[in-house]
Amino acid sequence: MQSTMQDVPLTVTRILVHGTVIHGRAQITTWTGDGTPRRRSFAEAGARATRLAHALRGLGVAEDDVVGTLMWNNAEHVEAYFAIPAMGAVLHTLNLRLPPEQLAWIVRHAADRVVIVDGSLLPLLAPLLPKLDCVEHVIVSGPGDRSVLADCHARVHDYEELLAAQTADAYPWPELDERRAAALCYTSGTTGDPKGVVYSHRSLYLHSMEINSAATFGLKQGEICLPVVPMFHVNAWGLPHAAFMAGTSLLLPDRFLQPAPLAEMIERERPTMTAGVPTIWQGLLAELDARPRDTSSLGAVISGGAPCPPSLMKAFEERHGLRVVQAWGMTETSPLGSIAHPPAGLTPEEEWPYRVTQGRLPASVEARLAGPDGGFLPWDGTSAGELEIRGAYIAGAYHGGADGEPTRPEDKFSPDGWLRTGDVGTITPDGYLTLTDRVKDVIKSGGEWISSVELENHLMAHPEVAEAAVVAVPDEKWGERPLAVVVLRDGHSAEYEALRAFLGERVARWQLPERWVRVPAVPKTTVGKFDKKALRRQYAEGQLE
Ligand code: ADP
Repeated sequence: MQSTMQDVPLTVTRILVHGTVIHGRAQITTWTGDGTPRRRSFAEAGARATRLAHALRGLGVAEDDVVGTLMWNNAEHVEAYFAIPAMGAVLHTLNLRLPPEQLAWIVRHAADRVVIVDGSLLPLLAPLLPKLDCVEHVIVSGPGDRSVLADCHARVHDYEELLAAQTADAYPWPELDERRAAALCYTSGTTGDPKGVVYSHRSLYLHSMEINSAATFGLKQGEICLPVVPMFHVNAWGLPHAAFMAGTSLLLPDRFLQPAPLAEMIERERPTMTAGVPTIWQGLLAELDARPRDTSSLGAVISGGAPCPPSLMKAFEERHGLRVVQAWGMTETSPLGSIAHPPAGLTPEEEWPYRVTQGRLPASVEARLAGPDGGFLPWDGTSAGELEIRGAYIAGAYHGGADGEPTRPEDKFSPDGWLRTGDVGTITPDGYLTLTDRVKDVIKSGGEWISSVELENHLMAHPEVAEAAVVAVPDEKWGERPLAVVVLRDGHSAEYEALRAFLGERVARWQLPERWVRVPAVPKTTVGKFDKKALRRQYAEGQLE
């Protein structure tokens, strides 16, 4: 039987129109660092998005053209987030922390015709432009020294002047096929070249609905969301889109991502939820410990992107009354893959074993665990395998290879089209996922696997340890052994023997690292995660003795 329902496309345009009309009074507040944040309503941002679309069309941007954004989390970036996909073009968020050659590589690979750049980032973009023939227009937003663009081949425009020159008339948003490209984001390329994930209008819409569900992030009208996660890191985890759908105001940190301004903006602007990677929360915790602030507005601190040490979650709760909620995801998963809400009806103590997992998958995501011999493993809480997933907002391929067609590398996609996440873990019968490692970070010692994440979590629970990363290093007898890289808290001097003894009370003897090094800070990736590849390289080059 045929369904009798209407077949209306699920598009970013719908989210934009809904947010600006129904939730027009919700606010986008951009932190400025000078004590006077910039405030703009959703209605105003929507009107400016209309002008931006007129402007881009005036510059010749057509459907399917790619427009890059090299911007911080701010109101102008939100305008670009909506205007570009809604006019049928493709938003390409550029990671401003990528090494310059990689940044140039992805701009060329995606063939960006226009780049909207924050004035403060011109020193990064300007030297690359001679290598970016595809870029015809550069639109500069906010203050910055424009003279560095004097000799560039692209036409240079000022964002505000461009918008002011446009008609205020409604833009004739086209009726788009929901399966068309809306946004493009490259993985950070920790192995090989970065890979482009192309989100469709439909996938962004469905992801927004999923993260607005009370079962996940549960954004609500009247609340305020502070995405610390950059808007170039998987669309700030979908929060700007979700906020327009739900009517949740946005508090955007711009470039003020250090612990002190974050603490100040939380106290003054009173966000109800926030989201970021564990290293951000590690820094905020130290700041709040040193200079307590009123953070009581925060109902949830979502931590994702890397394993969140349980000791960090407990410290926030015990010392500051803040609830950290762990979520797992990837660029390829839009990104919400799972979230660790405990089952109902438990005491706070009983909740902990659930909260320290990566959590349960939402209805939109299906999972299976691939075993080493090609079969699939049971969800029994102990069988560990590579997590494979599928769903309507999960990538099924990467953006164009040499022939322009999407690519499906075998190590990333199974023959039947599931995404191979590269994460290893277990799943309990009721669906709680615990990740023990990434495939490439697992330590294979004498035929057994040692979980680097487990060792790190225990070490970071030691009162004198600020950060700990454990990586595999070659070993003649065992193949690989763990190397523990630790950062001690200021003023502390714990000996390796004491740390080893502390670990020895928590893990099997054969898992205990015999190699230890102390460093001032663990190197981080461009999105703030422990950079284990860099650590392995430093060890191989003899820099970590
Ligand atoms: P990159 O691969 O460059 O780090 P992504 O942001 O896509 O870029 O990273 C996704 C990966 O981050 C996941 O495959 C997983 O290994 C890790 N990750 C994300 N969230 C968590 C989490 N809560 N716990 C453990 N690992 C996580």
